[in-house]
Amino acid sequence: MKIGIAGAGIAGRLLAWQMIKKGYEVTLFDKNSLNSEAACSFAAAGILSPLAELEMAEPTIFELGSRSMQLYPELIKELEQSVFYRQIGSLVAAHSSDKVELNHFHRMLKHKLDRCDDYVQNIAIADKEPELAHMGEGLWVTNEGQVDTIGLLNALQQGLLKKGIEWKERVEVEAIEPGQIKTNTETYSFDWVFDCRGMGAKNELSLRAVRGELLWLQAEDVKIEHLTRLVHPRYRIYIVPRPNDIYLLGATEIESEDYSPVSVRSSLELLSAAYSLHKSFGEARIIKQIVNCRPALPDNLPTVELEDGAGKINGLYRHGILLAPAVVEQMMIKFDQAIRSQTEGENAVNS
Ligand SMILES: Cc1cc2nc3c(=O)[nH]c(=O)nc-3n(C[C@H](O)[C@H](O)[C@H](O)COP(=O)(O)OP(=O)(O)OC[C@H]3O[C@@H](n4cnc5c(N)ncnc54)[C@H](O)[C@@H]3O)c2cc1C
Repeated sequence: MKIGIAGAGIAGRLLAWQMIKKGYEVTLFDKNSLNSEAACSFAAAGILSPLAELEMAEPTIFELGSRSMQLYPELIKELEQSVFYRQIGSLVAAHSSDKVELNHFHRMLKHKLDRCDDYVQNIAIADKEPELAHMGEGLWVTNEGQVDTIGLLNALQQGLLKKGIEWKERVEVEAIEPGQIKTNTETYSFDWVFDCRGMGAKNELSLRAVRGELLWLQAEDVKIEHLTRLVHPRYRIYIVPRPNDIYLLGATEIESEDYSPVSVRSSLELLSAAYSLHKSFGEARIIKQIVNCRPALPDNLPTVELEDGAGKINGLYRHGILLAPAVVEQMMIKFDQAIRSQTEGENAVNS
């Protein structure tokens, strides 16, 4: 079976990975070059946080995210290139003047998930992060974690190339129709085609762009091990610890399709909040500034659609890295069913 996939972000690469593992012949199209990091997926902090995200998301995100947390360890094992991945729990902290925000955060989680207490506990932050002892009481969310997104995307790329995928780089797809992927010069035919173009599909779906800005800091004097969120009435941040004293500080959420560099205002807000969490961030070095736009549908939920000959995954919004394994699994289940009914139909005609 010949499969064509447009878009080599997390959705496209993971779908290609599952298809190629089934023995299908896969061609992956992307408008960028193989070594480009322009896709939104490369911007992601790699937070895998199905429960803490629930405060502002729908229960579907928790369900899909929890499924992904079961699938991630297996995926990481399958990849030949090693990928930094951790599932050691996360912290939610607030300054003493903002404890009302923390209580509200906790109440929202309980309201959205009956079994919230199975996963969230009140703790002294010092028990998990001694350098953040001054934050007093906080929340501890079990099972949450993070993955090095760039490492994951690169490992998938390496694995796909090794398994013989045809990767059409620098090819802009103009239209996707059942069994066909069209560029401005050529039409490619497949048995099935899939659209994973993120914001690149905005003419076909009611997508909107949600700008996110993220800073990479190198802070030798900071020792934080767990993904930590700071809740605050205005400036909410997360800190994602990576090896070699690197901390990802994010992320803004601005309703705008704007890929221009990080603004002074956003930098001030992110950095001030980080400094308020741990004074040693004052001496950190800003080693990277990241901007990209999250592809979001009106309900902020993902779409996984499959019709005869064509499918699409999109609307991954602020949870694409978290949700990708689960939404791709959903697509594979739909796809297997479609193939089965196609075969049954053909058998019925032949008999
Ligand atoms: C700052 C920031 C931080 C984030 N942090 C997290 C996080 O911690 N955890 C999390 O789960 N999510 C996070 N996200 C969200 C996550 O990055 C997105 O949900 C996810 O990347 C969407 O993946 P995608 O594959 O749908 O789209 P993309 O990654 O945008 O991939 C789409 C691909 O399609 C290609 N393409 C587009 N148009 C065409 C065309 N016409 N022809 C050919 N190719 C085309 C593009 O080049 C691209 O490679 C973050 C996002 C941002 C911006």
